Amino acid sequence: TARIRIGIAGYGNLGRGVEAAITHSPDLELVAVFSRRDPASVTLLNAEVPVLPLAQVADYTDAIDVMILCGGSKSDLPEQGPQLAALFNTVDSFDTHARIPEYFDTLDAPARAAGKVAMLSGGWDPGLFSLNRLFGEAILPRGETYTFWGKGLSQGHSDAVRRVPGVKAGVQYTLPAQDAIERVRRGEQPQLSTREKHQRECYVVLEDGADADQVRNAIVTMPDYFADYDTTVHIIDDATLAAEHSKMPHGGFVIRSGLSGESTRQIMEFSLALDSNPEFTSSVLVAYARAVYRLQQSGQCGAYTVFDIAPGLLSPKSAAQLRKELL
Ligand code: NAP
Repeated sequence: TARIRIGIAGYGNLGRGVEAAITHSPDLELVAVFSRRDPASVTLLNAEVPVLPLAQVADYTDAIDVMILCGGSKSDLPEQGPQLAALFNTVDSFDTHARIPEYFDTLDAPARAAGKVAMLSGGWDPGLFSLNRLFGEAILPRGETYTFWGKGLSQGHSDAVRRVPGVKAGVQYTLPAQDAIERVRRGEQPQLSTREKHQRECYVVLEDGADADQVRNAIVTMPDYFADYDTTVHIIDDATLAAEHSKMPHGGFVIRSGLSGESTRQIMEFSLALDSNPEFTSSVLVAYARAVYRLQQSGQCGAYTVFDIAPGLLSPKSAAQLRKELL
């Protein structure tokens, strides 16, 4: 049977991750990468795949079955999502949680009009974590859901650290508080404050002549980003930063602590430990691209989230094969 033809819109960390993930899926084929930058300046892992200007993407509607949108959630996807949903089946990882309902609406109308499926907010959070929050609530209605993140590199908090005067370079990790996780696992159902759930750890290279205490103080007291957390600042040198802090790890835990019957304690837990946040997120998007294609082939259209897509559609195996091998 013919392979599902995939396009990538935007080639950053996720774009690279999608390209890599497709090589693990023999039923998918990467047709082209589209970028706003000069195509000659964008180098793919596989030099045989063409890089094309995003401005010409409308010429490729017949050549691509699913477009995977790899732009940023802040300003790329709100613009590119609705435009591309009018032309292609799409998958994206939109992760501005508070804006998901309105983003859904901006995709639903153009996708319906075009008879395409637009899947938004795939990935792990939102994405696989959202599914596990849903399972927890639906199965154990009497209970509490806890989400802990980390250990993970936070892009937004790393940017905030780098903007502090005297900081030359740096990264920020979010750490889940182990004692809080243990309390939840024991079934205590504690009310946890922001400070009790997560800690923050910064690794910072100073500019020449910068005062370490001043920088440390400016970071730990920064409102919104650090003031509500216990934050540790480590001063390191360029070589250590390059050697030990250039990866993008992440992960976390979704735990449902609930009761069944009168007072029978039940704990559900899902966890991820990721060496590369973007490569994992991309792997999720690629599996959902397969599902989106099948949905549209079966006559569906409009905007979809992880809640609306049957898990069997993610697998390259047939429904019969899944019943036999995995059920
Ligand atoms: P990124 O590397 O910054 O890439 C975003 C866009 O920036 C690319 O599509 C690319 O578009 C452009 N770009 C990349 N490298 C560039 C360069 N060297 N110079 C100029 N432009 C460049 O972002 P990312 O790490 O792939 O993450 C994308 C989004 O994924 C994030 O905003 C986040 O919201 C989302 N995300 C979601 C989850 C989840 O679980 N749902 C997890 C992780 C991330 P052009 O090729 O068109 O220039």
